[in-house]
Amino acid sequence: GAITPVANLEPVELAGTTVKRASLHNADQIEKLDLRIGDTVFVEKGGEIIPKVIAVDLDKRTSDAVPTRYITHCPECQTELIRLEGEAKHYCPNYLGCQPQVIGRIEHYISRKAMDIDGLGGETVALLVKEGLIKDYSDLYDLTIEEVLPLERMAQKSAENLINGITQSKHVPFERVLFALGIRYVGETVAKKLAKHYKTIDALKSASLENLIAIDEIGERIAESVTQFFANEHNLYSIEKLRSHGVQLQLSEDILANQTNKLNGDIFVVSGVFESVSRNELKKLIEDNGGKVGSSISSKTNFLIAGDKMGPSKRQKAENLQIPIISEQAFLKRLK
Ligand SMILES: [Zn+2]
Repeated sequence: GAITPVANLEPVELAGTTVKRASLHNADQIEKLDLRIGDTVFVEKGGEIIPKVIAVDLDKRTSDAVPTRYITHCPECQTELIRLEGEAKHYCPNYLGCQPQVIGRIEHYISRKAMDIDGLGGETVALLVKEGLIKDYSDLYDLTIEEVLPLERMAQKSAENLINGITQSKHVPFERVLFALGIRYVGETVAKKLAKHYKTIDALKSASLENLIAIDEIGERIAESVTQFFANEHNLYSIEKLRSHGVQLQLSEDILANQTNKLNGDIFVVSGVFESVSRNELKKLIEDNGGKVGSSISSKTNFLIAGDKMGPSKRQKAENLQIPIISEQAFLKRLK
């Protein structure tokens, strides 16, 4: 629901493309630039898709230029905008009724790293919402082939694929479902961490702020966002609906069965090539057994697991810091 103000420009050629719009970031930025309607501006094209306005050419400003006034209401749903303390952007608080927000959440839910629903794209989601067929992601599971067939550019085959893709997503593991829910600040990594710690959505749902913050790498901002998400009636309703359709809301039995706390929070750095497991499998074994994977050797590292062809500088560093270097076999033995 964040609002990003955009300047409409007279089209100008910039680095091989025609630029018609440029980002103004937020209300503070507009004020800082003292931007007026009709101003001539300097535009910079960076890595983002949309270029940004970086300065105003005051020499070219006419004496009757009108100051810009920041919008007070959402351009999509006309709800009054709010600005949270300490945040630069204005938000539309109409969580449930603001269509671009609704569509955005469903698009996130179906995205590749989330539920990865085959046969369903952003355009179809927008159509489904506009036609009133779905109001949130949990409604996807109620859709039938007959309902989606009349949609624009939908044929029997694509309708079948769509419904199939939605059904298949019921097998997506809990940590990805948790990411798909679209809890603010809960990205893939945090979702994994929370899934592993709480194991079920019900345990996470009833976790207190203090309880969440006590988890390694979960800060106040994330913890607050999680508790807010589960305090929202509508979100709870959606979750119950997902549950009734068989979406995975807890870690699967075999994942749980393979998890231990044998490594007791020790930090392992993995280096080189291994014989019986791949490097990724090794990392997974560490995490599944209560250890942590470090990206580089530091004084915090507890063990270096050395494979074949490990770089000599790594060994040297571990030796300097007196970090025990263990073999793949020795590590696997610890898990037995
Ligand atoms: Zn709105």
